[in-house]
Amino acid sequence: MFDSIIVGSGCAGAVIANRLAAAGKKVLVLEKRSHIGGNCYDEYDENGILIHTYGPHIFHTNNGQVYEYLSQYTKWFDYSHEVLANVYGTLIPVPFNLNTLYMVYEKEKADRLKDKLISTYKEGSKVPILELMNSDDEEIKDIADYVYNNIFLKYTMKQWGQKPEEIDSSVTARVPVSISYDNRYFTDKYQGMPLDGYTKMFENILADNNITVKLNTDAKEHILFEGGKVYYNGTEFTGDVIFTGQADELFDYCYGRLPYRTLDFVFENYKTEHFQPKGVVNYTVSEDYTRITEFKYLTNQKDDSQYSKAYTGSDDEIPYYAIINEENLALYNRYADLAAKYPKLKLVGRLAEYKYYNIDAIVAKALQVAEEILA
Ligand code: UDP
Repeated sequence: MFDSIIVGSGCAGAVIANRLAAAGKKVLVLEKRSHIGGNCYDEYDENGILIHTYGPHIFHTNNGQVYEYLSQYTKWFDYSHEVLANVYGTLIPVPFNLNTLYMVYEKEKADRLKDKLISTYKEGSKVPILELMNSDDEEIKDIADYVYNNIFLKYTMKQWGQKPEEIDSSVTARVPVSISYDNRYFTDKYQGMPLDGYTKMFENILADNNITVKLNTDAKEHILFEGGKVYYNGTEFTGDVIFTGQADELFDYCYGRLPYRTLDFVFENYKTEHFQPKGVVNYTVSEDYTRITEFKYLTNQKDDSQYSKAYTGSDDEIPYYAIINEENLALYNRYADLAAKYPKLKLVGRLAEYKYYNIDAIVAKALQVAEEILA
């Protein structure tokens, strides 16, 4: 009946389904949740505001192919994401940049520090905080200490339960100090929000007669992996299987659980035009939550606060972030080795590959996987 089975309808699953279907393959998509789109899913709340149920997802990319591909399925709302940090009640731009420098230091000192940063790192460059802290220059070290203590330390403790230097350095490098006057969170060539929302975009991506989506369907109840063979509802399935869920869950946690961070969200409504001056305010020295998003800025209107905690694997929890370190990757690789015993099985996505993918990166990966399958 089907040429391919795809487990999960988030970025990875939906894009692969789309490409295979376009090439004439019959594709079955099994989705555990009651909706498509994975954690990009958005919906209108009771006040008519488009909210991101699983936290803010801002699209940005330098990859022209990814942008062109998605643009077939959505128009874009021209949105440049800006983030402020609430530091003891003062709101300063993040990533820390030259505008932030002038808010933190008095003018004469800021002038001197700016010249030094530009002559050391070049205007327009981006310097990860852990690198800036290694500077031999006392004054640059001083800026680094300010940024570390006021922007990274508490936020990272809340988000990861560990200090910035204890987590993989690629994570804090996502938000480098910027030697420029650009307050935007991302500097990619293309950025914006799907004009009618992510859910609508995913509906369009999956709208192909060759694609059958089954919602509320736990793939584990239908697919069996045994002795290098795959069975769908008891019958051997020899087509491609793309699994985008947790690799540990796929193999019944046989080597133990892969650690993740999960999030709690609190959604609130205020009868005011704006609650905060930008789409996201990070609470980098105070509060138990990490950030507040006012969705109104992203496309329309609303507020929420976001808490991070360790994922325990309980049924009501969703794993959001893989915790990248040597030990966890070694555990992941054991599951990847198990998966490799199934020649037609591919693990793709944030969960299945145990990776910190941005939307554009997973779309690019999904396009590549689909091409490989079709080759
Ligand atoms: N981070 C921080 N303070 C900030 C912003 C980011 O300490 O104000 C650190 C934190 O460790 C975070 C990481 O940088 O997890 C990456 O931030 P990003 O905004 O990319 O996280 P995401 O939006 O993917 O949760």
